[in-house]
Amino acid sequence: MTVLVLGSANADLVVSVPRRPAGGETVLGGDTVVLPGGKGANTAVAAARLGASVGFVGAVGLDQYGDLLLSSLSSSGVRTDFVRRSSRPTGIAYITVTPDGENSIVVAPGANSDLDVSDVDALTWDDVTVLVCSLEVPVTTVSHAVQIAASRGVRPVLNLSPVVEVPAGTLALLDPLIVNEHEAASLASSFEGLLDLGPRSAVVTLGALGAAVVTSSGVVTVNAPEVSVVDTTGAGDAFAGALAYGLSSGSSLADAAGFAARVAALSVTSAGAQPSYPTLEQVRKTR
Ligand code: ATP
Repeated sequence: MTVLVLGSANADLVVSVPRRPAGGETVLGGDTVVLPGGKGANTAVAAARLGASVGFVGAVGLDQYGDLLLSSLSSSGVRTDFVRRSSRPTGIAYITVTPDGENSIVVAPGANSDLDVSDVDALTWDDVTVLVCSLEVPVTTVSHAVQIAASRGVRPVLNLSPVVEVPAGTLALLDPLIVNEHEAASLASSFEGLLDLGPRSAVVTLGALGAAVVTSSGVVTVNAPEVSVVDTTGAGDAFAGALAYGLSSGSSLADAAGFAARVAALSVTSAGAQPSYPTLEQVRKTR
């Protein structure tokens, strides 16, 4: 295993509704669709589908959704022996979709909140070269993992999504910090300003425009190919997984970001998060 992903795993329960219910109101929706999701699990699947050897560190419940998430990770080739079965329920995202395509989402983190430093202490790091974390799990756990990774010469990458306060000592180790455009704007007044938070490098994803790579040498933009958009769910997670794959294969940060922008662009051309992630062969075909 060369890529370790630490983060959330959620069951996405999706229902189409004619309109959003007002307070106290009930509306009838379509059939519930259950999909594997969560930023961490999505990132792990994206990297594995490209051919990286990936392990996932997370927590799910003892319920049927925990079983579903574990089997979706395993069937994508992700190692799951670092996933703990918690006594709390598996994380669930309740998603209602209106006919205009807009989502309203309530996340019940459940077992994800239970992921703690002892889960990190139980890890084996043998061939790991890149650690990727995201923040739907406790920041203390993420910080601990980043510190241990850095002390072992493993490259720590953090997708700061959602934005929460991260200790300065942790930010200083990141190479890169990944944020989307909105998260970047909430953290700094310019892309270069992200480096004032302390990371060695930063990558800002820019939707259809690709991504900006920020280092002490300046800002370089990498393009995403023009595609017909079907569903952008999980595009940011596809980007993080593909970036980790690129870095673990020895690419420079700019090359890995260019590759990740292509992979994430392909992921928006079909429905869902994990089901939309391409294999390396599919990426090569679109060159
Ligand atoms: P999400 O929350 O939907 O997962 P995000 O806000 O974290 O996404 P974005 O910057 O919107 O992240 O998208 C991540 C990457 O996905 C972009 O860098 C790009 O490569 C690809 N992407 C997203 N939208 C498009 C698009 N319309 N056309 C081409 N590529 C896209």
